[in-house]
Amino acid sequence: MTAHGTPLSSVLDTVGETPLVRVQSAPEAVPVYAKLESFNPGASVKDRIGLYIVEQLLERGDLEPGGTVIEPTAGNTGIGFAIAAGQLDVNAVFVVPERFSVEKQQLMDALGARVVNTPTEDGMGGAIDRAHELAEEIDGAVVPQQFSNPLNVEAHYETTGPEIFDALDGEVGAVVAGCGTAGTLMGIAKYALDQHPDTHVVAVEPEGSLYSTTKGADAEEDEYKIEGIGTHDTDTNELFEPELVDEIIQVPDRRAHDELKRLASEEGHLVASSSGAASVAARNVAERIRDGEIDVPYDSVATIFPDSSERYLSKGIYRSFEEWEG
Ligand code: PMP
Repeated sequence: MTAHGTPLSSVLDTVGETPLVRVQSAPEAVPVYAKLESFNPGASVKDRIGLYIVEQLLERGDLEPGGTVIEPTAGNTGIGFAIAAGQLDVNAVFVVPERFSVEKQQLMDALGARVVNTPTEDGMGGAIDRAHELAEEIDGAVVPQQFSNPLNVEAHYETTGPEIFDALDGEVGAVVAGCGTAGTLMGIAKYALDQHPDTHVVAVEPEGSLYSTTKGADAEEDEYKIEGIGTHDTDTNELFEPELVDEIIQVPDRRAHDELKRLASEEGHLVASSSGAASVAARNVAERIRDGEIDVPYDSVATIFPDSSERYLSKGIYRSFEEWEG
């Protein structure tokens, strides 16, 4: 647990216990609170699973000190794993589709990890296959596989969920979060539903992503610019449990982009596109709670701002919508 008033012995002690801050533009009657995950040492929500999973693998003997973790990752997970691995005497190799931001790959490299790129057109599926090939070639290697590893969900069940509930004295009406692996939402949702079975659970994805097909929606697949959430093949998202989710909100790139810029200019948040999408969806849920359209145990909404915009400056995140590369 992070204690900011005392000296800490390792950067690993600064993972988690991130601030929960009110989104000012949300309705007065139904506050929206966002957990600012850029306060983690690797500046994203993924530091939580990096630390939790490496510790658990070592504790269970699935990974030996001096061994190697190999992970297919869009970037933030690599940084989270690289920090934990570096401090716990473990090597790290990451397989990253080329389209993901160069900043993230430079940070993984700086943390001592090896980065292997796969072609953008092969998607995350191509990165997953390559990670397993590499694991065959390297002795003592483990592929934690964030897309299917229950420890990903457990990390959030054990940390993110309880932190939100503690900060709000248990008075959480709805939880809203973007889904990449869905580890964040599933962990928080399971914790929330254990506290109150009527908590409203909302998944957020970009327009063009296919999570909503799991609830019977007739979604059309398309490219999107929002980074870190969404799926083109729901078979890869093994952790996502549609039955725990009340609704799936699709956010168009343009709405997420407008909102991330507004969050910076009006509220002082330097957050990226998945935070913009989460904010749009969380405000929408809060408005519908206020208007009596959704029944919740408490009039409040909790969401996650997963990372910082600084990681995407090279992609023109603060330029016009057209100039933003996504
Ligand atoms: N936002 C960003 C920027 C991310 O990198 C990720 C992880 N891919 C997410 C949101 C979604 O987190 P999760 O994988 O837990 O669904």
